[in-house]
Amino acid sequence: MKLKGKIAVVTGASRGIGRGIAEVLAEEGADVVVNYVSNPEEAEKTARIVRDKGRRAVTIQGDVSKRVDVEAMFDRMEKDLGPADILINNAGIETIVPFLELTDDQWTHLVDINLRGPWLCSQVFCRRAIAAGRKGAIVHIGSIQAAKVLPGRTHYAPTKLGLEALTRNMSAEVTPMGIRVNCVHPGYIETDMTTWIRSVPGARDTVLAQISMARSGECREIGTAVAFFASEEASYLTGQSIHVDGGWAGK
Ligand code: NAP
Repeated sequence: MKLKGKIAVVTGASRGIGRGIAEVLAEEGADVVVNYVSNPEEAEKTARIVRDKGRRAVTIQGDVSKRVDVEAMFDRMEKDLGPADILINNAGIETIVPFLELTDDQWTHLVDINLRGPWLCSQVFCRRAIAAGRKGAIVHIGSIQAAKVLPGRTHYAPTKLGLEALTRNMSAEVTPMGIRVNCVHPGYIETDMTTWIRSVPGARDTVLAQISMARSGECREIGTAVAFFASEEASYLTGQSIHVDGGWAGK
């Protein structure tokens, strides 16, 4: 087990990719904080998956874009599980709005969750770890859209490419203090976020035709890449971004 005895926070772990990450981290020996914003029942399902693997889990509600929520999440985690060794910044939203129609509020809401959220959670995690002399690992969850243009994403895509810059710049500042920072960009994963692709006739085939493996990825396939970056197997890796996409970005 790569993560035996570690404590991990996975933001947005009530569903989809975050649940897959929580499951794999638990298999690798980590206890898991299952963060969510609005879906306690689904968060509890993820927590049960973690507990069924013999690990501890707590569900903690909190909006990753709000400092008061993030500080409270780390306070509660420290009380219930102990201090965090690993932070996975997975929570995110996607909307599709043409550039010329995008409103200020739509921009701000999405950028706050997708980019400010990872920055904020990372800052709270790093301040606490560094003050206590603990080492740590952070993995940001970006997107294929850091590399490929899809229509109506002039707000979403910059947040995901922005996570690459956040990864490099944070790494330069906190790696000397023992915290590695890396980024995993998922390709097409069939979750609630991508339901619309299955509902538009022909859209799924169009996407799959662009992927070398001609299939969608599993949430667990993102989880295994994340577990690697979070573990000591990646002890000399920091500031890196990798596409886990069946060969979409490179095609
Ligand atoms: P999803 O199924 O829509 O799940 C989103 C998760 O984020 C849920 O757990 C949700 O919590 C949580 N969340 C949303 N806003 C939040 C906030 N403000 N604070 C805390 N948690 C919040 O999405 P997904 O497909 O698993 O995507 C996960 C990540 O992968 C996202 O960053 C996404 O951009 C990225 N990604 C996905 C794909 C894909 O093909 N699916 C591809 C590339 C990148 P509730 O359940 O409580 O609402």
